[in-house]
Amino acid sequence: MKKLTTAFLAAAAMTLGFAARGAVYHFDTSGAPKLAAWTDTKLRPVVEQWYPRICSLLQEPGFKPPEEVKFCYREDRQMRGIPAWTMGNAIWLNRQWFEGNLEGEAIGCVVHEMVHVAQAYRRGRHPAPSWVQEGIADYVRWFLYEPYTHGARPNFRDQRTRYDNSYRTTAHFLNYVELKYGGGNTPIYRRLNAAARNAAYSDEFWKVATGKDVAALDAEWKQAFARPPRERRQPPKTKTSETSKPQKPETSKP
Ligand SMILES: [Zn+2]
Repeated sequence: MKKLTTAFLAAAAMTLGFAARGAVYHFDTSGAPKLAAWTDTKLRPVVEQWYPRICSLLQEPGFKPPEEVKFCYREDRQMRGIPAWTMGNAIWLNRQWFEGNLEGEAIGCVVHEMVHVAQAYRRGRHPAPSWVQEGIADYVRWFLYEPYTHGARPNFRDQRTRYDNSYRTTAHFLNYVELKYGGGNTPIYRRLNAAARNAAYSDEFWKVATGKDVAALDAEWKQAFARPPRERRQPPKTKTSETSKPQKPETSKP
């Protein structure tokens, strides 16, 4: 127990030190001169504020997140049309996509990628499922960085909607589980991330964290957000309608 406390304090001190000191950031805009001013005035402040915050959100005793992060712009053809990706501590950004999305999803997209840097999952024999990795990145982005945009509500009428659909859908599921079953010393998303980072994730995680298996959580999450059956318009009251039987509500279609 004492050992654990010492380890925890050491980790907390490390995280605080890191937050105070900040990391080192390199922005290479040589391939995107039109984006240089935006990168410096709009993107950099968010990076400097949010990378240490993300590292703190995903902290784990004994784990040290990368202290250097590189950002560089690449051409759309090199990126194969993908807006951004992360390799280790390097984030590649699609120049054309960013130029077209500065007022939209550009910064949120970088926040998502910074989560991948901080996750620093190892490629082992039991790699974390990608839906866990992407779900956590989108949870941080849509529910902690820009919750006011409400950008991650899945289509609950679609029968294919599942907790492991990855990205925004998994993020929405994680937010539901956090609000309903979280509240302990360590948030559930942080424990999930630690399990994934240490190649120790299995579906058993949900049972331990919430007391319910993931299929039950999936069902109750969808139930909680299913729209109530649409009420039929009641005809104006007449003498005959008073004697008619109450109408059955329509069953909702997914
Ligand atoms: Zn991602």
